[in-house]
Amino acid sequence: MLFRWLWTLKHVPQREVISTLQQIRRTQWMPPEQLEELNWEKTRRIVSHAYQHCPYYRQKYGAVGFEPGDLKRPEDFSKLPILTKTEVREHLDEMVAEGTKASALLTRFTGGSTGVPLKVYHDRRAALPTWCLHQRTTERWGVKMGDKTAHIWGLNRLNEQYLYDRQSALRQFISNYALFSAFEMTVEQMQRFAQFLRSFRPSLVIGYASAMTAFARYLEENGGAGFRPKAMWLTSEPTHDFQREVVERVFGAPVYDQYGSVEIHHYAVECGLRDGLHIDYDFRKVEVVDQEGMVLPRGDEGQIIVTDFVNFAAPLIRYRNEDMGRLLTNQCACGRSLPMMGKVTGRIYDMFVLPDGSQIYGHRFTTFFYDYVEQVQAFQVHQTARDRILVKIVPTERCNREKVAAMADQMFREYTRGQVAFEVQFVDDIPKEASGKYRFTKSDVSLQRR
Ligand SMILES: [Zn+2]
Repeated sequence: MLFRWLWTLKHVPQREVISTLQQIRRTQWMPPEQLEELNWEKTRRIVSHAYQHCPYYRQKYGAVGFEPGDLKRPEDFSKLPILTKTEVREHLDEMVAEGTKASALLTRFTGGSTGVPLKVYHDRRAALPTWCLHQRTTERWGVKMGDKTAHIWGLNRLNEQYLYDRQSALRQFISNYALFSAFEMTVEQMQRFAQFLRSFRPSLVIGYASAMTAFARYLEENGGAGFRPKAMWLTSEPTHDFQREVVERVFGAPVYDQYGSVEIHHYAVECGLRDGLHIDYDFRKVEVVDQEGMVLPRGDEGQIIVTDFVNFAAPLIRYRNEDMGRLLTNQCACGRSLPMMGKVTGRIYDMFVLPDGSQIYGHRFTTFFYDYVEQVQAFQVHQTARDRILVKIVPTERCNREKVAAMADQMFREYTRGQVAFEVQFVDDIPKEASGKYRFTKSDVSLQRR
């Protein structure tokens, strides 16, 4: 991913790259009032751009009688209608700013909750700030520009050329970058990658939390990591505490949480203190709303709404990405003024709807397994009907199957107040989703499918 951005940056003068990076490094320490002003100025700029140049936004905002002049105070922003994934799926081409050249659009796909990939456009002109945000992220963890990076990733045709087993060792060492496919994590592949990493010795290892945990477990049982990175970057899916523990223990390096998505790469990231995630407030606005779309106070958990200030080609304004999280009330002791958010706790589609209509958050089930880390290698809690939940467990050798099954059944009945029948199955493997990620909890009967 990094290299794709570097390639995109090849026409940008080096001077501009350096000055932008320096500026972005400084912004995180700005006095809060100044940062607030910057955020507000960028908010107004993207909204008025979208209204003036993007047919879909003009029509969407016009339908509620909004004009850019109505945006007088920051509170006014929350009156703008939310943009859903369904709208992006159906109206992406009308969201593109008039006069945008095809070459300015970078097409990206993300797996959606419905299993239908969602297409978005990135703005090629945003490559520079995005690359700088990536640098700012890893610099906070002590990783320097050009340090060696290993990446465990779901692949597409675009980045296959960087696969560690398809390019020469020389090229990996020159590019300081090696990529391993999260789709091909067989024992043989993991063994080869582990051997490779012991001589490559990366400073930074990036990967899906689930894939990285599986790899860490493999290493632990096969002689340990044999190298010590400066930082482990778990991304793309909510990170559970047990995953963090395994990865830190095996690699001997701190795990950092970063929040981003295919649609918008960087939202928020932990600093070295790891006391919440700093929102990249100079480039994004993050709001948290309830089911009706009303903005919730800091501290309350709800649906995440995000606005990207650098995509002028196909703007995403008040975009509901279907993740759940909350803004934090505290400022970080590191002194950075960028406001804080908590860890993203899951996806809207992880909400389980019970027969009486009440909802319970899938993460609740996940926490049960924290007490059984020694006995359970992997699990999935899958609601197949309102009153049926299938629990798949991949046991370790030490697993007391009867006890784990009985405890899961007892606790889960309690969580669901006896409304749901549970079936516990012990299996050898839990298949990944098409994206290459694991889903710990999934519900086929969620309310929010839009
Ligand atoms: Zn901090």
